[in-house]
Amino acid sequence: EAKKAGRGEQRVFNDAMNAAAKDALVIDGALRGAIEAGEFYLVYQAITNAHTGKLTKVEALLRWNSSLLGPVTPDRFIPVAEDSGMIVELGTWVLEEACRQVGQWKHGLLDDVTISINVSAWQLADPGFVALVAQALQRNGLSPRQLELELTERVLIDDAANVRAVLGQLRALGVGISLDDFGTGYSSLSYLTQFQLNTLKIDRAFVMDIEHSERNNKLVHAIIAMGQSLGLQLVAEGVETAGQAAILEKMGCHYLQGYHISRPIPPDELLRFACARADAPECAI
Ligand code: C2E
Ligand code: MG
Ligand code: MG
Ligand code: MG
Repeated sequence: EAKKAGRGEQRVFNDAMNAAAKDALVIDGALRGAIEAGEFYLVYQAITNAHTGKLTKVEALLRWNSSLLGPVTPDRFIPVAEDSGMIVELGTWVLEEACRQVGQWKHGLLDDVTISINVSAWQLADPGFVALVAQALQRNGLSPRQLELELTERVLIDDAANVRAVLGQLRALGVGISLDDFGTGYSSLSYLTQFQLNTLKIDRAFVMDIEHSERNNKLVHAIIAMGQSLGLQLVAEGVETAGQAAILEKMGCHYLQGYHISRPIPPDELLRFACARADAPECAI
């Protein structure tokens, strides 16, 4: 009887595995040609100064409206693109598209706003990456100071020596480097001093119950104190309530990102957002 139940569980497990593998296979197929078909676009999520509420940075987030599958979320297609290596081509598209769009924002309003782009380990490992970034900036008339690249802790571990060199070159260029999803990865705290980082993004998992969990409250407080002592800028991710925002601001967190501030939105809405947050009474968009 027990054996039978065990086999049943095994079958359920296999079915789930097969379903996931099939899903990945279907997505992999649909990804081919999707760039050329114009199926990707970017949305932008505001990151504001915790103290003044002004728009400081925007994170570009990739969206895919597949002609075969309809809208597919990044959680589903980014891992597949990472596995196939297509993330390099996709990441290049994101870099170019974000720089192109920022280059078009000739509104003054967004002049001091930094654009953040998510970069995968595969992209950093590409020997031409720094040149690619420099070209995208130049082609679109952007200063390197206007660009920040978001990496996850996994990227730092993969090939530490090479990554350290590449980040050094990017910093020399003037591009900012941000450590995304901080606290969820596998890196040790010593990584924070080994790499030339500017910004630490505290993962949503810690911010989520900052109001109700004493443990997470203390943890976030400690991350902020540590980041400040290392001279890093701190961004809290996934800020969903006014209560969280107030606590984070009091703790000395510099910047806030999350649905409480704004959802990821298209460029025209972002302009309206910037306008509403600017202290320019004549601003009318
Ligand atoms: P991420 O870089 O940590 O981006 C933040 C994610 O959290 C986004 O999900 C955003 O929509 C979501 N988010 C923001 N505020 C809140 C909030 O208050 N509550 C909740 N529940 N969620 C919030 P999204 O756009 O689905 O992207 C998921 C992940 O996919 C990103 O996480 C990033 O790792 C990856 N990704 C997105 N675009 C790109 C890209 O262009 N290149 C690469 N390599 N990865 C990307
Ligand atoms: Mg990110
Ligand atoms: Mg993040
Ligand atoms: Mg995150």
